[in-house]
Amino acid sequence: MAKILLTGGAGYIGSHTYLALVEAGFEVVIFDNFSNAKPDVPSRLQDISGDAVHVIQGDVLNRDELAAVFDAHQIDGVVHFAAKKAVGESVEKPLEYIHTNVGGLLNLLSAMDGAGVRRIVFSSSATVYGDTDVQPIPEDHPRTYTSPYAYTKIAGEQILEQLNDDWAVGILRYFNPVGAHQSAMIGEDPSDIPNNLVPYIAKVATGDLEQLAVFGDDYDTPDGTGVRDYIHVEDLANGHVLSIKSLLETGSSHTVNLGTGEGSSVLDVVRAYGEACDQDLNYKIAPRRDGDVAVLTARPTKAKEELGFEATRSLADMCRSSWAWVSGQRRNSK
Ligand code: UDP
Repeated sequence: MAKILLTGGAGYIGSHTYLALVEAGFEVVIFDNFSNAKPDVPSRLQDISGDAVHVIQGDVLNRDELAAVFDAHQIDGVVHFAAKKAVGESVEKPLEYIHTNVGGLLNLLSAMDGAGVRRIVFSSSATVYGDTDVQPIPEDHPRTYTSPYAYTKIAGEQILEQLNDDWAVGILRYFNPVGAHQSAMIGEDPSDIPNNLVPYIAKVATGDLEQLAVFGDDYDTPDGTGVRDYIHVEDLANGHVLSIKSLLETGSSHTVNLGTGEGSSVLDVVRAYGEACDQDLNYKIAPRRDGDVAVLTARPTKAKEELGFEATRSLADMCRSSWAWVSGQRRNSK
């Protein structure tokens, strides 16, 4: 049974990927500094999976902590999530983002190299495509950055592309991950006012926030609101399983989009979420948000051809699972 190290494995996408890997028969070690994960995530993962969860509290910025993991465990491959991910914050704190996202990757690669572990899946993002009219976007579209966060993802990809043939690298470019695990025991749990659409709508549905601001209704899209390629986090998690399997089995690298290929507008999401929670959700049309593009959708065919990946869950599934998680959490906290 191959053993996989998940950096950032207690976070939103990491925790879902943990469950998908365990279900696929992998042994998994989580390495996380819990800077953006709740302390009870490991016990929840244990309750869901029924097995003990191996968690190491540590930081990718600490080389000794990383080296100790590879000394203690015979790791076969790494899935690297640990990174900062808020675009707006990256504009305020560019050095912090570069330090954590690029510096953390370099530390990890050095520790891996020292231990002779040369299989890595890297969390990248559709943000590496910048603002483009080419939709849906194929992987060979040129990269360009519109924020320090985006820069760190491009830099990470470029660093990985310098590695020699001893390495096999999976670069996964996520579109818009949303939804929660079918158990409704883990999901996205932002402690501040959310920046992203679905977590924000969820808080309108629970009554924590009064009204959604729809950022722009004058885009060149069917209803004028922004169109994105939302992908269920459980589909995304399966993409990571297929990616690490492919690296371990073939020893060759891949760069793929993880999306559905289908676009949904902001109002489509408001409608689908309203149906999921059986409410009319309060929203108003507001000005466009700086830096937003009209449409961002994946061309999903390369992931299908190279990894056999296909997203199977609908927008309705994404909204229902998000609501099951969010409303359950709320009931438990009362
Ligand atoms: N959006 C919105 N109101 C919000 C948050 C987001 O109208 O409070 C819109 C945003 O303009 C974009 C879409 O929802 O068209 C998805 O935004 P999100 O921040 O979730 O992801 P992004 O695609 O920007 O990474």
